[in-house]
Amino acid sequence: MPSRKIAIVSVYDKTGLLDLAKGLNQQNVRILASGGTAKLIRESGFPVEDVSAITNAPEMLAGRVKTLHPAVHAGILARDLASDEKDLAEQNINKVDYVICNLYPFKDTVAKVNVTIPEAVEEIDIGGVTLIRAAAKNHSRVTILSDPNDYAEFLKELDAGEITEASRKRYALKAFEHTADYDTAISDFFRKRYAGEGKQYIGLRYGANPHQKPAAAFVSGGDLPFKVLCGSPGYINLLDALNAWPLVRELKRALGLPAAASFKHVSPAGAAIGIPLTDEEKKVYFVNDIEGIDSSPLAQAYARARGADRMSSFGDMIALSDKVDVPTASIISKEVSDGVIAPSYEPAALEILKKKKGGKYLVLQIEPYWDPSKVETRSVYGITLQQHRNDARIAPDIFETVITPKDAGPLPVDALRDLTVATLAVKYTQSNSVCYASRGQVIGLGAGQQSRIHCTRLAGDKADNWWLRFHPRVLGIKWKKGTKRPDKSNAIDLLVSGELPKFGPEREAFEAVFEEVPQAFSEEERSEWLGKLDNVAVSSDAFFPFIDNVFRASRSGAKYIAAPGGSQNDSAVFATAEKLGITFVEQNIRLFHH
Ligand code: 5GP
Repeated sequence: MPSRKIAIVSVYDKTGLLDLAKGLNQQNVRILASGGTAKLIRESGFPVEDVSAITNAPEMLAGRVKTLHPAVHAGILARDLASDEKDLAEQNINKVDYVICNLYPFKDTVAKVNVTIPEAVEEIDIGGVTLIRAAAKNHSRVTILSDPNDYAEFLKELDAGEITEASRKRYALKAFEHTADYDTAISDFFRKRYAGEGKQYIGLRYGANPHQKPAAAFVSGGDLPFKVLCGSPGYINLLDALNAWPLVRELKRALGLPAAASFKHVSPAGAAIGIPLTDEEKKVYFVNDIEGIDSSPLAQAYARARGADRMSSFGDMIALSDKVDVPTASIISKEVSDGVIAPSYEPAALEILKKKKGGKYLVLQIEPYWDPSKVETRSVYGITLQQHRNDARIAPDIFETVITPKDAGPLPVDALRDLTVATLAVKYTQSNSVCYASRGQVIGLGAGQQSRIHCTRLAGDKADNWWLRFHPRVLGIKWKKGTKRPDKSNAIDLLVSGELPKFGPEREAFEAVFEEVPQAFSEEERSEWLGKLDNVAVSSDAFFPFIDNVFRASRSGAKYIAAPGGSQNDSAVFATAEKLGITFVEQNIRLFHH
């Protein structure tokens, strides 16, 4: 006669328990249960034995030790192997066939306001997790039920004969997920208390918006790769910093010069490498009074990154590839900015930054050699999304294959440099994106548009504005004394945008900041000046679906375009570029970013 099947039952959530006990008994399964579980089954009149019937040990330590015993765990873990059978026989242990277990309510307990550590500790289930893991590990023989919702189907199968392999696998997966989720809740709880604020875990005031609480940033295992030297980061600050930092790190690696980025809402407003500035550029970028800028490539890089689109950079999060020096900190100290991330700071530079925003300026120090995991995971609407990190390498050598014109010789070094800048910028820009670059810096970037042509236009309009800011009329502006930098940037933007009203309150507000009001640009003046913009490199994060993009890029001085192929219109796009005298360069990697 085959021996009776054995079930170990130990459940905190007793939902469906009596139906389960009834069903197990109907199939002549021997039920062994822990204290509270056995009591309920017994009181309901169903046959049940205490686990101690096989352990010959009482429950101890107020329930901390109930089922932890070789008689239980050897019975669960034993395989159908002669050696395992022999071990069991020697110890007089029977094989366990079914484990039904769910865990102490750790999550509910720690969700209570003001929960103490001892209260939480008592809700850490030990024996239950061990039962579940052991049974799930041995699911080739044992069935593990960790969810009362599965009892009915289990009993149906049991009624029909045996639990199928497919069901055992499904229940095992659920069990592993159950214990993983449980352990995550425990480590989350203790990380907040024991990790040391700022080392492995940072509590954030709120998430993307003030009503999104609580919010936090952490790594599981090890320390965060950055330290907060001043201020306290917000959720969007960190999104910006953690996108801006890899951008400058990769720019520096690709081009060998210090690099800077100015981020807003998780896209760059500007990004650049440190190339000496002309007197004109210093004026346009508002850095002509910065001492030491000529000998600081890092300051030059930030001047360019911040100068590309001054209006968009208002309140930026800055990333710098190198140790921050005084000239760079001096530029930052004059601008409205939210924070900076860099590998290190000269003491005098840090002092300058710490004085900003009444001592609340965010200063982050990043561990420069830290490499993130290859796998990125995030959760959206309760669904976990996972992907391999975008670790595509972008460097001048990837732009060496010219598609059109066929007879093009090697690209000039400056073109390769600017294509690299533009392409790395789109790699870290919310898609769709198109970037125009010149002089080692972004000059116009269109981010987050649903259609490609809108990106190309937006970026082109920004490049035009950037270039119009070099017009002698803008360089010669006489400001009213005391006009603030952001007000100057806004007035210049209105002047060069071509949207300046002729009269009305907006016009009056515009005029209020000048000693001498500059004349608006006529259509002829604009196109004459814009016609001088040349040698611009354009990169797109995906293919151009229509030739309109090439026409628009050409109007803002595009001489080189790099974009992935794959559009039905590829050949028309290449032919249009050729007709307009634009060199179209192969760039095979699509660079969507979200
Ligand atoms: P009962 O209500 O039967 O007394 O206890 C059921 C609970 O005890 C289940 O949630 C189960 O996970 C847990 N449990 C089972 N064995 C042990 C053990 O040895 N130690 C601890 N701490 N909990 C156990």
